[in-house]
Amino acid sequence: MVGSEAQIICPACATTNLVGARFCRNCGARIAGNKPSNVTRFEQLMYLSLGIGVVYFALRYPMFLRDADAAFRLIVTPAFVFGITILLIWLIARRRANWARWVLLIAFLPGWVASNVYLIGTFHMHGFEWNYQTEFLSIAQLFIEGIGVYLIFTGNVVAWFRKPPS
Ligand SMILES: [Zn+2]
Repeated sequence: MVGSEAQIICPACATTNLVGARFCRNCGARIAGNKPSNVTRFEQLMYLSLGIGVVYFALRYPMFLRDADAAFRLIVTPAFVFGITILLIWLIARRRANWARWVLLIAFLPGWVASNVYLIGTFHMHGFEWNYQTEFLSIAQLFIEGIGVYLIFTGNVVAWFRKPPS
């Protein structure tokens, strides 16, 4: 849920506690290490997006084989971006690194805007044709990443990132 309440559910008794609490106010179970639901969803969405990226790459693979320069550009760059993205997801969701959240936003936004402009331009010129199935994957990926990045800047994660990792 994209909620505004800064709460965390106790895994032992399901009581809602404030984010940042180290122990459950009802049963005393340790809860400090638990992630807010938005962070868990962010992690799932980002890995889903990376999975779509792999499918997108596989579908376009025959095109890369015809063009060596494009192959290098389109393999090395995505591999690098892929690695950096996984590192950032790990730092954000597992290491609670607030700075990594901002790096992801700053790295993500220009590409996201540019890709949207490109896709809108493509559809504007060529129409909405069904042979663009790979472009639909791009749209799905942009959409999922957009939600993922939005999730770590809203709701129950804001207070979570303010507290140091425990
Ligand atoms: Zn409890």
